[in-house]
Amino acid sequence: MKIHEFQAKVILENHGVPIQRGYSLTDENEIEKTIKKVQNDFNTEAVVVKAQIHAGGRGKGGGVKFCNTYEKALESAKNILGMNLITHQTGEEGKIVNQLLITEALNIKKEFYFALMFDRSKNADVFIVSTEGGVDIEEVAEKTPDKIVKAWVKEDMYPLSKAIDTIVDSLGLSSFDEAKEIFRKIFECYTESDCNLLEINPLVLTEDDKIIALDAKVDIDSNALFRQDLISTFHDKSEEDPLELKASEYGLNYIKLDGNVGCMVNGAGLAMATMDIIKHYGGEPANFLDVGGAANVETIKNGFKIILSDPNVKSILINIFGGIVRCDRVANGVIQAVKELNLNVGVVVRLQGTNALQAKKILDESDIDLISAETIDEAAKKAVGMVI
Ligand code: GDP
Ligand code: MN
Repeated sequence: MKIHEFQAKVILENHGVPIQRGYSLTDENEIEKTIKKVQNDFNTEAVVVKAQIHAGGRGKGGGVKFCNTYEKALESAKNILGMNLITHQTGEEGKIVNQLLITEALNIKKEFYFALMFDRSKNADVFIVSTEGGVDIEEVAEKTPDKIVKAWVKEDMYPLSKAIDTIVDSLGLSSFDEAKEIFRKIFECYTESDCNLLEINPLVLTEDDKIIALDAKVDIDSNALFRQDLISTFHDKSEEDPLELKASEYGLNYIKLDGNVGCMVNGAGLAMATMDIIKHYGGEPANFLDVGGAANVETIKNGFKIILSDPNVKSILINIFGGIVRCDRVANGVIQAVKELNLNVGVVVRLQGTNALQAKKILDESDIDLISAETIDEAAKKAVGMVI
Protein backbone atom coordinates (compact mmCIF):
# COMPACT_ATOMS: atom_id res chain seq x y z
CA MET A 1 0.00 0.00 0.00
CA LYS A 2 1.40 3.34 -1.01
CA ILE A 3 1.14 6.28 1.35
CA HIS A 4 1.56 10.02 0.86
CA GLU A 5 4.75 11.97 1.48
CA PHE A 6 3.32 13.74 4.52
CA GLN A 7 2.29 10.38 6.02
CA ALA A 8 5.69 8.85 5.31
CA LYS A 9 7.23 11.81 7.09
CA VAL A 10 5.03 11.12 10.12
CA ILE A 11 6.43 7.63 10.51
CA LEU A 12 10.00 8.80 9.88
CA GLU A 13 9.57 11.50 12.50
CA ASN A 14 8.10 8.98 14.95
CA HIS A 15 11.38 7.09 14.60
CA GLY A 16 13.43 10.20 15.27
CA VAL A 17 14.50 10.93 11.67
CA PRO A 18 14.81 14.67 10.96
CA ILE A 19 12.32 15.75 8.29
CA GLN A 20 11.44 18.91 6.42
CA ARG A 21 8.54 19.99 8.60
CA GLY A 22 5.13 21.12 7.44
CA TYR A 23 1.35 20.76 7.57
CA SER A 24 -1.06 19.13 5.14
CA LEU A 25 -4.47 20.30 4.02
CA THR A 26 -7.32 19.21 1.77
CA ASP A 27 -9.68 22.20 1.95
CA GLU A 28 -9.05 25.33 -0.11
CA ASN A 29 -10.33 27.44 2.78
CA GLU A 30 -7.44 26.26 4.91
CA ILE A 31 -4.68 27.42 2.57
CA GLU A 32 -4.12 30.88 4.08
CA LYS A 33 -4.18 29.67 7.64
CA THR A 34 -1.83 26.78 6.92
CA ILE A 35 0.79 28.88 5.12
CA LYS A 36 0.81 31.34 8.03
CA LYS A 37 1.10 28.54 10.54
CA VAL A 38 4.08 27.02 8.70
CA GLN A 39 5.76 30.44 8.47
CA ASN A 40 5.12 31.03 12.16
CA ASP A 41 5.87 27.65 13.69
CA PHE A 42 9.02 27.01 11.70
CA ASN A 43 10.18 30.60 11.59
CA THR A 44 10.47 30.91 7.81
CA GLU A 45 9.25 33.35 5.19
CA ALA A 46 9.86 30.97 2.29
CA VAL A 47 7.76 27.81 2.10
CA VAL A 48 7.39 24.90 -0.32
CA VAL A 49 3.97 23.91 -1.66
CA LYS A 50 3.82 20.21 -2.51
CA ALA A 51 1.09 18.20 -4.22
CA GLN A 52 0.31 14.97 -2.38
CA ILE A 53 -0.31 12.20 -4.89
CA HIS A 54 0.88 8.60 -4.99
CA ALA A 55 3.45 9.28 -7.69
CA GLY A 56 6.90 10.79 -7.92
CA GLY A 57 8.29 13.35 -10.34
CA ARG A 58 5.99 16.02 -8.96
CA GLY A 59 8.64 18.72 -9.10
CA LYS A 60 9.15 18.36 -12.84
CA GLY A 61 5.40 18.15 -13.42
CA GLY A 62 4.73 21.47 -11.63
CA GLY A 63 3.46 19.94 -8.39
CA VAL A 64 6.24 21.26 -6.11
CA LYS A 65 6.80 25.02 -5.86
CA PHE A 66 9.40 26.87 -3.87
CA CYS A 67 7.78 30.15 -2.73
CA ASN A 68 9.75 33.07 -1.35
CA THR A 69 6.75 35.03 -0.12
CA TYR A 70 3.32 34.48 1.40
CA GLU A 71 1.66 35.81 -1.79
CA LYS A 72 3.57 33.42 -4.01
CA ALA A 73 2.70 30.52 -1.70
CA LEU A 74 -0.98 31.46 -1.76
CA GLU A 75 -1.01 31.61 -5.54
CA SER A 76 0.86 28.28 -5.91
CA ALA A 77 -1.31 26.47 -3.38
CA LYS A 78 -4.49 27.63 -5.12
CA ASN A 79 -3.13 26.51 -8.47
CA ILE A 80 -1.90 23.11 -7.33
CA LEU A 81 -4.86 22.03 -5.18
CA GLY A 82 -7.37 20.45 -7.56
CA MET A 83 -5.04 20.45 -10.58
CA ASN A 84 -4.59 17.39 -12.75
CA LEU A 85 -0.92 16.65 -12.20
CA ILE A 86 0.89 14.73 -14.91
CA THR A 87 4.31 13.26 -14.09
CA HIS A 88 6.38 10.46 -15.60
CA GLN A 89 4.86 8.16 -12.96
CA THR A 90 1.14 9.05 -13.27
CA GLY A 91 0.65 8.01 -16.90
CA GLU A 92 -0.63 10.54 -19.40
CA GLU A 93 -4.06 10.79 -17.78
CA GLY A 94 -2.47 12.34 -14.65
CA LYS A 95 -3.83 12.47 -11.12
CA ILE A 96 -6.08 15.02 -9.43
CA VAL A 97 -4.40 16.68 -6.47
CA ASN A 98 -6.75 16.41 -3.48
CA GLN A 99 -4.20 17.23 -0.83
CA LEU A 100 -1.28 19.59 -0.26
CA LEU A 101 1.70 19.63 2.03
CA ILE A 102 3.09 23.03 2.89
CA THR A 103 6.58 22.87 4.35
CA GLU A 104 9.36 25.06 5.63
CA ALA A 105 11.91 25.85 2.91
CA LEU A 106 15.46 24.63 3.44
CA ASN A 107 18.75 25.97 2.14
CA ILE A 108 20.23 22.96 0.46
CA LYS A 109 23.96 22.30 0.16
CA LYS A 110 23.74 18.75 -1.21
CA GLU A 111 20.98 16.43 -2.42
CA PHE A 112 21.44 12.68 -1.91
CA TYR A 113 19.42 9.76 -3.16
CA PHE A 114 18.54 7.20 -0.50
CA ALA A 115 16.43 4.05 -0.65
CA LEU A 116 15.91 0.88 1.34
CA MET A 117 14.22 -2.15 -0.10
CA PHE A 118 14.42 -5.92 -0.19
CA ASP A 119 16.80 -7.51 -2.68
CA ARG A 120 15.38 -10.92 -3.56
CA SER A 121 18.51 -12.03 -5.41
CA LYS A 122 20.52 -11.77 -2.16
CA ASN A 123 17.65 -12.43 0.24
CA ALA A 124 18.72 -9.30 2.10
CA ASP A 125 17.66 -5.72 2.65
CA VAL A 126 19.62 -3.26 0.60
CA PHE A 127 20.53 0.40 1.03
CA ILE A 128 20.83 2.20 -2.29
CA VAL A 129 22.41 5.64 -2.17
CA SER A 130 23.91 8.21 -4.47
CA THR A 131 25.58 11.56 -4.14
CA GLU A 132 23.60 12.61 -7.21
CA GLY A 133 20.16 12.77 -5.65
CA GLY A 134 17.22 14.94 -6.64
CA VAL A 135 14.89 15.08 -9.58
CA ASP A 136 17.24 13.48 -12.15
CA ILE A 137 17.99 10.21 -10.37
CA GLU A 138 16.59 8.08 -13.23
CA GLU A 139 19.10 9.68 -15.59
CA VAL A 140 21.94 9.07 -13.11
CA ALA A 141 20.98 5.40 -12.86
CA GLU A 142 20.99 5.06 -16.61
CA LYS A 143 24.02 7.10 -17.62
CA THR A 144 26.36 6.87 -14.61
CA PRO A 145 25.37 3.73 -12.69
CA ASP A 146 28.75 3.77 -10.90
CA LYS A 147 27.44 6.77 -8.95
CA ILE A 148 24.92 4.48 -7.27
CA VAL A 149 26.19 2.54 -4.27
CA LYS A 150 24.52 -0.48 -2.69
CA ALA A 151 25.05 -1.96 0.77
CA TRP A 152 23.26 -5.08 1.95
CA VAL A 153 21.97 -5.97 5.41
CA LYS A 154 21.31 -9.49 6.60
CA GLU A 155 21.51 -10.99 10.04
CA ASP A 156 24.73 -13.00 10.62
CA MET A 157 26.00 -12.17 7.14
CA TYR A 158 26.08 -8.47 6.42
CA PRO A 159 25.88 -6.46 9.64
CA LEU A 160 23.87 -3.24 9.68
CA SER A 161 26.78 -1.25 11.11
CA LYS A 162 28.99 -2.21 8.17
CA ALA A 163 26.34 -1.23 5.63
CA ILE A 164 25.90 2.10 7.37
CA ASP A 165 29.68 2.71 7.33
CA THR A 166 29.68 2.04 3.60
CA ILE A 167 26.90 4.47 2.79
CA VAL A 168 28.15 7.19 5.13
CA ASP A 169 31.57 6.95 3.45
CA SER A 170 30.24 6.93 -0.07
CA LEU A 171 28.05 9.97 0.59
CA GLY A 172 30.99 11.83 2.12
CA LEU A 173 29.21 12.22 5.45
CA SER A 174 31.87 10.66 7.69
CA SER A 175 32.56 13.95 9.43
CA PHE A 176 28.92 14.39 10.44
CA ASP A 177 28.44 12.84 13.86
CA GLU A 178 24.72 12.25 13.57
CA ALA A 179 24.83 10.61 10.11
CA LYS A 180 25.18 7.03 11.33
CA GLU A 181 22.47 7.45 13.92
CA ILE A 182 20.08 8.86 11.31
CA PHE A 183 20.64 5.91 8.96
CA ARG A 184 20.13 3.52 11.85
CA LYS A 185 16.82 5.21 12.67
CA ILE A 186 15.71 5.09 9.04
CA PHE A 187 16.49 1.38 8.97
CA GLU A 188 14.48 0.90 12.15
CA CYS A 189 11.58 2.81 10.60
CA TYR A 190 11.81 0.61 7.49
CA THR A 191 11.68 -2.69 9.40
CA GLU A 192 9.24 -1.69 12.12
CA SER A 193 6.79 -0.19 9.63
CA ASP A 194 6.87 -3.26 7.35
CA CYS A 195 8.00 -1.23 4.34
CA ASN A 196 8.48 -2.78 0.93
CA LEU A 197 10.22 0.42 -0.06
CA LEU A 198 11.40 3.47 1.80
CA GLU A 199 12.83 6.06 -0.56
CA ILE A 200 14.08 9.49 0.41
CA ASN A 201 14.95 11.55 -2.63
CA PRO A 202 16.41 13.88 -1.83
CA LEU A 203 17.91 13.38 1.58
CA VAL A 204 19.63 16.72 1.98
CA LEU A 205 22.56 18.29 3.71
CA THR A 206 21.51 21.85 4.50
CA GLU A 207 23.70 24.95 4.43
CA ASP A 208 23.86 24.74 8.23
CA ASP A 209 25.04 21.12 8.01
CA LYS A 210 21.91 19.27 9.05
CA ILE A 211 20.87 15.99 7.44
CA ILE A 212 17.15 16.11 6.64
CA ALA A 213 14.61 14.00 4.74
CA LEU A 214 13.13 16.45 2.25
CA ASP A 215 10.91 13.98 0.42
CA ALA A 216 9.73 10.47 1.29
CA LYS A 217 8.09 7.75 -0.70
CA VAL A 218 6.97 4.66 1.17
CA ASP A 219 5.26 1.47 0.11
CA ILE A 220 3.95 -0.72 2.94
CA ASP A 221 3.47 -4.49 2.76
CA SER A 222 -0.36 -4.75 2.71
CA ASN A 223 -0.20 -8.17 4.35
CA ALA A 224 1.29 -6.57 7.46
CA LEU A 225 -1.37 -3.91 7.90
CA PHE A 226 -3.07 -5.94 10.62
CA ARG A 227 -0.20 -4.98 12.94
CA GLN A 228 0.24 -1.41 11.69
CA ASP A 229 -2.57 0.47 13.37
CA LEU A 230 -1.40 3.97 12.52
CA ILE A 231 -0.36 3.18 8.95
CA SER A 232 -3.69 1.42 8.27
CA THR A 233 -5.42 4.78 8.80
CA PHE A 234 -3.26 6.22 5.98
CA HIS A 235 -5.08 4.25 3.28
CA ASP A 236 -6.24 6.76 0.65
CA LYS A 237 -8.99 5.20 -1.42
CA SER A 238 -9.12 8.12 -3.83
CA GLU A 239 -5.66 7.10 -5.10
CA GLU A 240 -6.79 3.63 -6.13
CA ASP A 241 -8.22 2.35 -9.34
CA PRO A 242 -12.01 2.41 -8.69
CA LEU A 243 -12.46 -1.06 -10.20
CA GLU A 244 -9.71 -2.58 -8.07
CA LEU A 245 -11.25 -0.95 -5.02
CA LYS A 246 -14.68 -2.35 -5.83
CA ALA A 247 -13.18 -5.81 -6.38
CA SER A 248 -11.50 -5.73 -2.98
CA GLU A 249 -14.87 -4.89 -1.41
CA TYR A 250 -16.21 -8.06 -3.06
CA GLY A 251 -13.22 -10.00 -1.69
CA LEU A 252 -11.82 -10.52 -5.19
CA ASN A 253 -8.22 -10.10 -6.18
CA TYR A 254 -8.38 -7.99 -9.36
CA ILE A 255 -5.78 -6.03 -11.27
CA LYS A 256 -6.78 -4.16 -14.39
CA LEU A 257 -4.60 -4.53 -17.47
CA ASP A 258 -4.75 -3.07 -20.97
CA GLY A 259 -5.97 -5.98 -23.12
CA ASN A 260 -9.46 -7.10 -24.15
CA VAL A 261 -9.75 -10.73 -23.00
CA GLY A 262 -11.27 -10.74 -19.54
CA CYS A 263 -10.16 -13.56 -17.23
CA MET A 264 -11.95 -15.15 -14.30
CA VAL A 265 -9.84 -17.76 -12.57
CA ASN A 266 -9.49 -19.37 -9.16
CA GLY A 267 -6.02 -19.29 -7.64
CA ALA A 268 -3.27 -16.79 -8.38
CA GLY A 269 -1.01 -19.35 -10.08
CA LEU A 270 -3.72 -20.52 -12.45
CA ALA A 271 -4.66 -16.90 -13.10
CA MET A 272 -1.10 -16.11 -14.17
CA ALA A 273 -0.89 -19.24 -16.31
CA THR A 274 -4.16 -18.20 -17.95
CA MET A 275 -2.81 -14.76 -18.75
CA ASP A 276 0.35 -16.34 -20.20
CA ILE A 277 -1.55 -18.64 -22.48
CA ILE A 278 -3.80 -15.83 -23.71
CA LYS A 279 -0.65 -13.97 -24.72
CA HIS A 280 0.79 -17.15 -26.22
CA TYR A 281 -2.14 -17.29 -28.65
CA GLY A 282 -1.74 -13.64 -29.62
CA GLY A 283 -4.29 -12.10 -27.26
CA GLU A 284 -3.93 -9.56 -24.48
CA PRO A 285 -5.47 -10.17 -21.06
CA ALA A 286 -7.76 -7.37 -19.84
CA ASN A 287 -7.15 -8.22 -16.23
CA PHE A 288 -5.86 -10.53 -13.56
CA LEU A 289 -8.75 -11.87 -11.48
CA ASP A 290 -8.47 -14.48 -8.78
CA VAL A 291 -11.92 -15.31 -7.42
CA GLY A 292 -10.40 -17.39 -4.62
CA GLY A 293 -11.18 -20.88 -3.45
CA ALA A 294 -14.95 -20.58 -3.02
CA ALA A 295 -16.22 -19.82 -6.52
CA ASN A 296 -19.96 -19.67 -5.84
CA VAL A 297 -22.73 -17.93 -7.81
CA GLU A 298 -22.21 -14.70 -5.91
CA THR A 299 -18.44 -14.51 -6.47
CA ILE A 300 -18.86 -15.39 -10.14
CA LYS A 301 -21.53 -12.74 -10.56
CA ASN A 302 -19.36 -10.14 -8.85
CA GLY A 303 -16.43 -11.23 -10.98
CA PHE A 304 -18.47 -10.70 -14.16
CA LYS A 305 -19.59 -7.28 -12.95
CA ILE A 306 -16.02 -6.18 -12.33
CA ILE A 307 -14.69 -7.57 -15.62
CA LEU A 308 -17.54 -5.99 -17.61
CA SER A 309 -17.05 -2.57 -16.02
CA ASP A 310 -13.95 -2.38 -18.20
CA PRO A 311 -15.24 -1.24 -21.62
CA ASN A 312 -12.24 -2.80 -23.40
CA VAL A 313 -13.36 -6.33 -22.61
CA LYS A 314 -14.51 -8.19 -25.75
CA SER A 315 -14.49 -11.78 -24.53
CA ILE A 316 -14.25 -13.57 -21.20
CA LEU A 317 -12.32 -16.70 -20.37
CA ILE A 318 -13.42 -18.53 -17.25
CA ASN A 319 -10.82 -21.05 -16.13
CA ILE A 320 -11.67 -22.73 -12.87
CA PHE A 321 -10.21 -25.76 -11.19
CA GLY A 322 -12.77 -27.55 -9.05
CA GLY A 323 -10.99 -28.87 -6.01
CA ILE A 324 -13.06 -28.18 -2.96
CA VAL A 325 -15.65 -26.40 -5.08
CA ARG A 326 -17.34 -28.86 -7.47
CA CYS A 327 -17.35 -28.00 -11.18
CA ASP A 328 -21.06 -28.72 -11.63
CA ARG A 329 -21.85 -26.08 -9.02
CA VAL A 330 -19.57 -23.61 -10.73
CA ALA A 331 -21.25 -24.38 -14.08
CA ASN A 332 -24.67 -23.70 -12.61
CA GLY A 333 -23.31 -20.53 -11.04
CA VAL A 334 -21.93 -19.32 -14.37
CA ILE A 335 -25.23 -20.02 -16.12
CA GLN A 336 -27.23 -18.22 -13.48
CA ALA A 337 -24.89 -15.24 -13.44
CA VAL A 338 -24.91 -14.95 -17.24
CA LYS A 339 -28.72 -15.06 -17.30
CA GLU A 340 -29.08 -12.41 -14.62
CA LEU A 341 -26.47 -10.06 -16.03
CA ASN A 342 -27.48 -10.11 -19.69
CA LEU A 343 -23.97 -10.41 -21.08
CA ASN A 344 -23.16 -9.14 -24.55
CA VAL A 345 -19.63 -10.50 -24.89
CA GLY A 346 -18.59 -14.06 -25.70
CA VAL A 347 -17.80 -16.32 -22.75
CA VAL A 348 -15.56 -19.38 -22.89
CA VAL A 349 -15.70 -21.71 -19.91
CA ARG A 350 -13.15 -24.33 -18.99
CA LEU A 351 -13.80 -26.31 -15.83
CA GLN A 352 -11.48 -29.05 -14.65
CA GLY A 353 -11.45 -31.12 -11.49
CA THR A 354 -14.21 -32.64 -9.42
CA ASN A 355 -17.32 -33.41 -11.52
CA ALA A 356 -15.84 -31.77 -14.62
CA LEU A 357 -17.71 -34.03 -17.02
CA GLN A 358 -21.05 -33.27 -15.44
CA ALA A 359 -20.18 -29.60 -15.58
CA LYS A 360 -19.41 -29.72 -19.29
CA LYS A 361 -22.71 -31.47 -19.90
CA ILE A 362 -24.60 -28.81 -17.95
CA LEU A 363 -22.91 -26.05 -19.95
CA ASP A 364 -23.43 -27.76 -23.33
CA GLU A 365 -27.09 -28.41 -22.62
CA SER A 366 -27.91 -24.97 -21.23
CA ASP A 367 -29.86 -22.61 -23.47
CA ILE A 368 -27.44 -19.75 -23.02
CA ASP A 369 -24.65 -18.77 -25.30
CA LEU A 370 -21.53 -20.18 -23.69
CA ILE A 371 -18.61 -21.91 -25.29
CA SER A 372 -17.20 -24.75 -23.26
CA ALA A 373 -13.65 -26.02 -23.56
CA GLU A 374 -11.80 -28.96 -22.11
CA THR A 375 -8.17 -27.93 -22.16
CA ILE A 376 -6.58 -24.64 -21.28
CA ASP A 377 -5.19 -24.43 -24.85
CA GLU A 378 -8.56 -24.87 -26.45
CA ALA A 379 -10.12 -22.34 -24.09
CA ALA A 380 -7.47 -19.69 -24.73
CA LYS A 381 -7.61 -20.19 -28.52
CA LYS A 382 -11.37 -19.76 -28.50
CA ALA A 383 -11.37 -16.70 -26.23
CA VAL A 384 -8.63 -15.01 -28.26
CA GLY A 385 -10.28 -16.06 -31.52
CA MET A 386 -13.34 -13.97 -30.63
CA VAL A 387 -11.37 -10.75 -30.47
CA ILE A 388 -8.76 -10.93 -33.23
P1 GDP B 1 9.37 15.01 -6.39
O1 GDP B 1 9.70 15.84 -7.60
O2 GDP B 1 8.02 14.39 -6.49
O3 GDP B 1 10.42 14.00 -6.11
O4 GDP B 1 9.31 16.03 -5.14
P2 GDP B 1 10.42 16.50 -4.10
O5 GDP B 1 9.79 16.62 -2.78
O6 GDP B 1 11.62 15.63 -4.16
O7 GDP B 1 10.79 17.93 -4.59
C1 GDP B 1 11.38 18.15 -5.85
C2 GDP B 1 12.58 19.06 -5.77
O8 GDP B 1 12.21 20.34 -5.27
C3 GDP B 1 13.66 18.59 -4.79
O9 GDP B 1 14.50 17.63 -5.38
C4 GDP B 1 14.38 19.88 -4.49
O10 GDP B 1 15.36 20.13 -5.47
C5 GDP B 1 13.29 20.94 -4.62
N1 GDP B 1 12.88 21.39 -3.26
C6 GDP B 1 11.89 20.89 -2.50
N2 GDP B 1 11.87 21.48 -1.28
C7 GDP B 1 12.90 22.37 -1.28
C8 GDP B 1 13.42 23.29 -0.31
O11 GDP B 1 12.97 23.42 0.82
N3 GDP B 1 14.49 24.05 -0.68
C9 GDP B 1 15.06 23.94 -1.91
N4 GDP B 1 16.10 24.70 -2.19
N5 GDP B 1 14.59 23.08 -2.86
C10 GDP B 1 13.53 22.30 -2.54
MN1 MN C 1 11.60 13.53 -4.60
